[in-house]
Amino acid sequence: MVSILLVEDEYKLAEILQRELEAAGYQVWYAPDGSQALLLFQHQSPDLIILDWNLPEVNGLDVLRRIRQQSAVPVLMLTARNDLTDRVVGLEVGADDYLVKPFHLPELIARVRALLRRTERIREMLTGDRRLHETAIQYDGLVLDPQDYVCTLDGQPLDLTPLEFEMLSLLVSHPGRTFNRMYLVETIWKSTFIEGDRAVDNTILRLRKKMGRMGDCLETVRGMGYRLRIPNNFENRP
Ligand code: CA
Repeated sequence: MVSILLVEDEYKLAEILQRELEAAGYQVWYAPDGSQALLLFQHQSPDLIILDWNLPEVNGLDVLRRIRQQSAVPVLMLTARNDLTDRVVGLEVGADDYLVKPFHLPELIARVRALLRRTERIREMLTGDRRLHETAIQYDGLVLDPQDYVCTLDGQPLDLTPLEFEMLSLLVSHPGRTFNRMYLVETIWKSTFIEGDRAVDNTILRLRKKMGRMGDCLETVRGMGYRLRIPNNFENRP
């Protein structure tokens, strides 16, 4: 059963939301304030969080910040203010979506379903991207053999760490696809990205150096992440 943590200090509204969510088939954990929300989050590992912005004591934004330090669980924020700055801050701190009060219940359920579907798609994508190719991948003189983590460029071996090898394999498997830092951390390091983490950038820097003439094939996509440039004579044999 999919479980939802509902954090809302207005009891009447919370009661209606809980009833509606349960009727839609979800298991609901309820917290009336930020501290209880964080406790329930630790103990129940919900699949999604509906988080009110204005809460007594620990406010919604601080709850979100703390949750984001350890989890990528989808968060739908509820806000009474239709203030663009607030919404931007919420999204920057890591809310996945927001609803402005008052809202219609069917819209809440639709947003919840959409968020859960998106999470499921990302999970499927992650599973696929974490699997290494079974046979060697080639890219413009570069050969990556996942059997023994051997990488050669123009026939010369490159001394890559397992993490560097996995990151390069992922990029080489999808030339032109942009990967953001959060996604790379979840795929390669299998952990949650924390704002300011430079692990991805440092790995890209080292790879660029080690790849010599091909270093500039690892492109920075400003404000997004990294991708492998598609060469003119591209040939990919999976
Ligand atoms: Ca409130």
